[in-house]
Amino acid sequence: MSQWLDFKELRRKLDFRAVLEHYGVEVKVQANSSQHHGFCPLPTHNGKKNSASFSANLDRGIFQCFGCGAKGNVIEFAARMEGVDPANGSDFRKVALKLQQAFLPGDSRPAPDAQQAKPGTSEKEQNVSAQGENIVKINAPLDFELTTLDPTHPYLTGRGFTAATIQQFGLGYCSRGSLNGRIAIPLYNLDGKLIGYAGRVVVDRAISEENPKYRLPSKRDHEGVTYQFQKSLIVYNLHRLPRVVEDIIVIEGFTGAWWLTQAGLPNVVALMGSSCSDQQAQLILDRVAPAGRIWLMPDGDDAGARCAGELFLRFAPYRFTRWVKLDTGKQPTNCSPEELKRIFGEGPWQKEAATS
Ligand SMILES: [Zn+2]
Repeated sequence: MSQWLDFKELRRKLDFRAVLEHYGVEVKVQANSSQHHGFCPLPTHNGKKNSASFSANLDRGIFQCFGCGAKGNVIEFAARMEGVDPANGSDFRKVALKLQQAFLPGDSRPAPDAQQAKPGTSEKEQNVSAQGENIVKINAPLDFELTTLDPTHPYLTGRGFTAATIQQFGLGYCSRGSLNGRIAIPLYNLDGKLIGYAGRVVVDRAISEENPKYRLPSKRDHEGVTYQFQKSLIVYNLHRLPRVVEDIIVIEGFTGAWWLTQAGLPNVVALMGSSCSDQQAQLILDRVAPAGRIWLMPDGDDAGARCAGELFLRFAPYRFTRWVKLDTGKQPTNCSPEELKRIFGEGPWQKEAATS
């Protein structure tokens, strides 16, 4: 017989201290605090073993490890301790049921029929309960915002970005969590809702296979729902453009979008890489008036040339399209404002910049 399970209710009722102790963690909290700090007990921990990288907030029922980057709620903690991937819906549910039976035996009861699900229970909880599987949401708006970013970090100011540009794009150095040591770059959907953060390493020699130059939002699980970011469905900065534009500049990376915008060029968007999905191409095309122009300005390297060729074939049948070819080794951020003015000229640009 299947068991009724309300993840939210279970989370609220579980005593995180008891769960930690159940898994052999010696809970250490200072007086008047609900914050436990200690070595990371997770079997998947792959950071330093002898540093107190793990913290848990016993009141809020959440944990985080700065060493291995794991974080989540009390049920996700138990799942990881049991060697279960919290993203695996049915395994995750089994762990949750185990917790309920161990810590809240009075709450265990058979599942009602799907039609008789409790009124007022949200759709997602009904789905989770009825199927025992995770709901997956793509590019869903975030329910939090990073508020302690440092906009004065030398990575930004040293590259000539002004305070106004940094503020316009919401950039700042992040010193905690999975974006620790990176410039956080807010990402928005077409409605202008924040859906995640990309992170740029600030010290290039720290870049490696495990520590890529850019980190995009990773999959996360929250109350039985899996949230995923899909780059191929988003064009960076597109949400800030008017609904129809005469000219659009398409480049590869985030920094180029900031740089060209700061130089006074309107309607600069970035693909977040040198490839363009069908959806991204359609999103760009939909923005440009039938008599409008698409300017492609990829990096001056082989990947950039391939990108330009691919985009040209996509756009040229429908809009005037021009490839602004940069010299080998050059990127949009290497172009001075004067150079950019020479490339893109006067005329519609200046008009559009003045009216928008
Ligand atoms: Zn850890």
